[in-house]
Amino acid sequence: MNSRTGSYLVAALMSVGATLALAQQAPPAPMPAPPDTKIETVNLAPGIYVLIGRGGNIGLTVGTDGAAIIDDQFADMVPKIRAAVALLSEKPVHFVINTHLHGDHTGGNDGFGAAGAVIIAHDNVRKRLGSDQVNPSNNQPIPARAREALPVVTFADSATLHFNDEDLEFTHLPNAHTETDIAVRFRKANIVHMGDLFVGGFPFIDGNTGGTLDGLILAHEKVLASIDDNTRVIRGHGPVGNKAELQAFHDMLVVVRDRVAKLVKAGKTQEQVVAARPTKEFEEKYAGTSFNAEQWLGRAYVDQKRALEMRRRK
Ligand SMILES: [Zn+2]
Repeated sequence: MNSRTGSYLVAALMSVGATLALAQQAPPAPMPAPPDTKIETVNLAPGIYVLIGRGGNIGLTVGTDGAAIIDDQFADMVPKIRAAVALLSEKPVHFVINTHLHGDHTGGNDGFGAAGAVIIAHDNVRKRLGSDQVNPSNNQPIPARAREALPVVTFADSATLHFNDEDLEFTHLPNAHTETDIAVRFRKANIVHMGDLFVGGFPFIDGNTGGTLDGLILAHEKVLASIDDNTRVIRGHGPVGNKAELQAFHDMLVVVRDRVAKLVKAGKTQEQVVAARPTKEFEEKYAGTSFNAEQWLGRAYVDQKRALEMRRRK
């Protein structure tokens, strides 16, 4: 099986569809995948791959025990994901791990769950996917997901899956991108899948599902303390990275957060915060993938205003 790995190596990683970061937790409207959406398979270590298609990057392990995937993009990508896995494993997908609740990472749950895969995620993924929600941006109801799309194994803080002679360690990182995020660490291969805790551009912090900028920074600090210079770090969207890139992303967030917090504390309005351009020296590197600086600062302003109010209330 390992002799095949070279041919699946794809050097160029991409930035996927532009709407990804704003995907809601409900499965997306039934929209056919563009006919040119292909899955690219990138080999990271023997038996461990990243599948890049439409939606969040998928981690894949194949081996003696079968196949397990981390995230499953959209419902209409399921046949393509299955085909990509089938090139590497004769066995079906036994486990699906969700890094968090968003629909561009859990949209395939229905298909894989119905086919018998065991879905594993943080407690809050099941809680939120299993109940009706309201989309705060347009007040539209988001119905609960189908029964087969719900995680059947959930945990509060951490769990480990022993599979294919590897230890996959799941660690909950509270109130970061959402309140449902986990990092998935391949202990032996020294690879970590960060879900949307780490992306190629300014981060999406989903305040409607418990995400906070302060929590995201803490999440990075926890992961950074547990990895080394050789760790491969899988972004939720964007190219596979490393510790130095995660550290730089974290450091950028700390600088911007501190600047925004200071302006908020001084009573500045959202317009004034945006005009002060606290993202100035980072815009060339991080703007444009999901948000431009103004959009992202608008969200960071709301986030830090809420954080300040909560501190004052204590
Ligand atoms: Zn997300």
